Amino acid sequence: LGSSVDVDPGVEIDEEEEEGLLGGLKITSTADIEVPDRLVDQVIGQDEARDIIIKAAKQRRHVMMIGSPGTGKSMLAKAMSQLLPQEDLQDVLVYHNPDDGNEPKVRTVPAGKGDQIIDAHKEEARKRNQMRSILMWIIIAIIIGYALIMRNILLGILAAGIIWLIFRYTSRGTDAMVPNMIVDNGDKRQAPFEDATGAHAGALLGDVRHDPFQSGGMETPSHDRVEPGSIHKSNKGVLFVDEINTLDIRTQQKLMTAIQEGEFSITGQSERSSGAMVQTEPVPCDFIMIAAGNLDAMENMHPALRNRIKGYGYEVYMEDTIEDSPEMRRKYARFVAQEVERDGRLPHFTDEAVEELILEAKRRSGRKNHLTLHFRTLGGLVRVAGDIARAEDAELTTREHVLQAKKRSRSIEQQLADDYIERRKDYELQVNEGGVEGRVNGLAVMGEDSGIMLPVMAEIVPAQGQGQVIATGQLKEMAEESVQNVSAIIKKFSDVNLSEKDVHIQFVQAGQQGVDGDSASITVATAVISALEDIPIDQTVAMTGSLSVRGDVLPVGGVTHKIEAAAKAGCKTVIIPAANEQDVMIEDEYEEMIEIVPCSNISEVLEVALMGEPQKDSLVDRLKQITGSALEHQTVG
Ligand code: ADP
Repeated sequence: LGSSVDVDPGVEIDEEEEEGLLGGLKITSTADIEVPDRLVDQVIGQDEARDIIIKAAKQRRHVMMIGSPGTGKSMLAKAMSQLLPQEDLQDVLVYHNPDDGNEPKVRTVPAGKGDQIIDAHKEEARKRNQMRSILMWIIIAIIIGYALIMRNILLGILAAGIIWLIFRYTSRGTDAMVPNMIVDNGDKRQAPFEDATGAHAGALLGDVRHDPFQSGGMETPSHDRVEPGSIHKSNKGVLFVDEINTLDIRTQQKLMTAIQEGEFSITGQSERSSGAMVQTEPVPCDFIMIAAGNLDAMENMHPALRNRIKGYGYEVYMEDTIEDSPEMRRKYARFVAQEVERDGRLPHFTDEAVEELILEAKRRSGRKNHLTLHFRTLGGLVRVAGDIARAEDAELTTREHVLQAKKRSRSIEQQLADDYIERRKDYELQVNEGGVEGRVNGLAVMGEDSGIMLPVMAEIVPAQGQGQVIATGQLKEMAEESVQNVSAIIKKFSDVNLSEKDVHIQFVQAGQQGVDGDSASITVATAVISALEDIPIDQTVAMTGSLSVRGDVLPVGGVTHKIEAAAKAGCKTVIIPAANEQDVMIEDEYEEMIEIVPCSNISEVLEVALMGEPQKDSLVDRLKQITGSALEHQTVG
């Protein structure tokens, strides 16, 4: 057991094709792939978390899982419940307490026994009721017979009616004999798994229903109004709570008591209801707690509860990406098979459709040689693609369906970004031809997965006294820093002293939230140099990259999305940092639309971006001489 649990996909592997997207898997569709039975074997990546779950299941320890949504936290919690022994399972019964109706008694019996007990009680109650009604009819018959003899029918009927009413009302007393089974594990094949994410106090801790008829013989006996909470239903199993910090503090405190005691009385949760008067004897709640959330959630949870779980269990981080390897890619193919089987209605995926999904997993990782572990969204893509195929009555889900699904399941940010591009085209804010001085088509990332073109304009005017950088919005700091860096370079090749000038930097339409401008410093530098030297910039070029004081172009995030945004906006060339070259995973459709030029130095950037041959060449030559070693000297000194 442990990380060595390796599951044979039941498919032949072509070793020569291992480097291919399918890792050499020889399949025509995902129908050829065997899906393992146990959930724990279906988990992909997250080796550490899986090992801990297996260990914690053996030792009955609590676990805290920290990580991004959709990476397998609840899946692992459910997997844990499959690993727990089912011999321990119990049924829980609540009985009427003849001494105190407001303190129902609680009895625990081995799973399956509860049903027998209830049946026996019902049978007894039925017999008793039968005896009672026989008795009642005998008495009524005697009365009516007597009345007939006495020739006073009216009085006889009246007396019989009274007897009937008495029997009818007192028969409620026999209901009280039948216990209320609040936890029924009779037909369970595995230990319970309860997801209490977002549960209110009653659902988590149990509740006693309000009784509108609190007296007068009409009331439901209190033990019958008792309802179990997740903590009781997960007895001997797993209680999973995601976003644990969203539980209110009092509830967290009670949860902690429940963990400590292993049993917790049920009482009415709403204070003014009749249920609040009722409190059962303690009900067992010996569960393993799996608390999940992101880092924030952990920081905001009740410290005592956190210590409790930490002190008596494990804490584990979920990974966001995993290193790409043939074996991993084969597992991703199995993931598609798993999702198709889980859904039950989707057509299986062709090998090419799986390849496209694996490519998407690479793209979404945003990291060189990695695959994303955000499986919920990836699974969403599988379902949308499968649904499209199903709507067409297709036998298999094809690559074409996956591509359509990707268009359809764009994130909000992507939709926004596309919308901006469209609107800007309308207003002709987008310039993608000709040359303009001081204007550069920069690129930025919105949200996690969408690029946007973010033009930058620079204007340089003589300052009144000390020069300054004037920029607005959230990108001000970045603009100041990149002007500072570029001025160190400019000093070296030009007589112009930037500190005597006002440099205005404007980000065209950067108003929207969520634009990350960190990686725009070569953009600002290029715009400044162009404005300073009066050399126009080719507007068919877009660029991204960070600039060092030495003039090096440093790597940035999100290049793939940025390149795609540049292509969508109609640019012909895109400059990216040379160090980002391996991160490029653009879709085929863009490959023909745009040329990618990796650069490692600002002089290379200018060579591509500037127009107007003689001036440009002399500038680039001068720059080449001074950047690199010459500047290195300066920064060190
Ligand atoms: P979380 O609890 O971390 O938000 P879930 O466990 O609910 O995420 O994951 C949602 C779905 O995504 C799962 O039901 C499963 O289909 C798929 N999934 C998530 N993580 C993995 C994983 N590591 N391996 C395989 N499938 C996964």
